[in-house]
Amino acid sequence: MAVIVQKYGGTSVGSLSRIEAVAENIIATVRQGHQVVVVLSAMAGETNRLLAMAQQLDSEPASRELDMLLATGEQVSISLLAIALVKQGISAISLLAHQVGIKTDNRFNAARIENIATERLHQALAQEQVVIVAGFQGQDRDNNITTLGRGGSDTSAVALAVALKAAETQIFTDVDGVYSADPRIVDKAQRIGQLSFEAMLVMASLGAKVLQNRAVEYAFKHGMPIRVLSSFKPDQGTIILTQEQLLAETCLPTIISSIVHHQQEALVLIDDIDSVSVSEIFVVLGKENIETDMVTFNQVSPTKKQVSFTLARDMLSSMKNALKQITTCNKFGTIHTFDNVAKLSAIGIGINSHASITGTILSLLAAEEIDVKLISTSEIACSVVIDESELIKAVRLLHHKFGLDLSS
Ligand code: ADP
Ligand code: ASP
Ligand code: MG
Repeated sequence: MAVIVQKYGGTSVGSLSRIEAVAENIIATVRQGHQVVVVLSAMAGETNRLLAMAQQLDSEPASRELDMLLATGEQVSISLLAIALVKQGISAISLLAHQVGIKTDNRFNAARIENIATERLHQALAQEQVVIVAGFQGQDRDNNITTLGRGGSDTSAVALAVALKAAETQIFTDVDGVYSADPRIVDKAQRIGQLSFEAMLVMASLGAKVLQNRAVEYAFKHGMPIRVLSSFKPDQGTIILTQEQLLAETCLPTIISSIVHHQQEALVLIDDIDSVSVSEIFVVLGKENIETDMVTFNQVSPTKKQVSFTLARDMLSSMKNALKQITTCNKFGTIHTFDNVAKLSAIGIGINSHASITGTILSLLAAEEIDVKLISTSEIACSVVIDESELIKAVRLLHHKFGLDLSS
């Protein structure tokens, strides 16, 4: 009898009728003879509602208390689903992370799972119960409640699947798989049937929010296949596997396989800086857990160097506060910030070895008078920073020009 781990996101449990539909889906899986562990997100909009309340009291709420608050969203959804299943005659139990034994480090708001105890889960499964676990939350060594970062229920599901040695993690969401671009923005986007962990990791870290990047990272590390499916119209979805498993089944993808974007970014540019100050900046940001991306450090004239990087827009004020720790040494010039930018990436294989790709992207954007503020390339992605107001136009343009539009 196989253990199946199914995760349902916020929209999938966004109303009582959606919760009843999820219960039906679970009952069908139980009837196929599987042991089922379910991971749930909070009902759609709930985490944002809780966050907004905290921010009305304090624009930067105390991180421990914020986790205490945000974790309540999942308690509501798991108990409602258990009630719906019991009503249908199915034995079910809802459990919070501390009742399961999901241990994390103590980084509030962005904790990482360190260990999952499986005794209670196995006990409940042995009693033929459907086990419903609160996603997104954990418990640190001092018994504080922690949360895993936005979208963290995906990671809870993967970690539980690994701990229970499940065959795959099924992520049920509001789209029927991973697409060549966000299907809400590009209506000709195509569903990708199979994808490597490497490609998915790049997509997730560059903004394709369909999976939390830490979930992909965790699954990659443990070789745990992830299947992304729609909870509204079940189908094959997208399966994410190792490169070896994929190569055994498919041919190599075309050079550009998807276009990914991330809104709410900020770009920071610091003039007149030396190597020591640059290292100090990144040490301080690292200590404060402020994640940066697209870091460049270059010589702009014989005597001057410049550093630039991107970060999530809501981290700008924390970043400025962190840098105050070192500005007293006065080892760098002006800090310029652009807080209305977005990141757009073309994902593929062999980008750097096909020199024309970068040129094509830049000239396509230039032809539309879309100003590129920063570019970075690697073998698997070419990312540019542009004004957020141009983003949707640019996503559609690249999706079309790289031949990814679904032919009608
Ligand atoms: P859930 O609440 O189920 O966790 P999310 O909102 O976190 O769902 O993720 C699903 C959303 O991800 C979709 O509604 C879609 O708009 C967005 N998305 C962004 N990029 C992609 C992509 N390349 N493929 C599929 N969905 C994407
Ligand atoms: N409820 C959390 C969020 O909205 C976690 C999740 O949905 O995965 O980010
Ligand atoms: Mg999500």
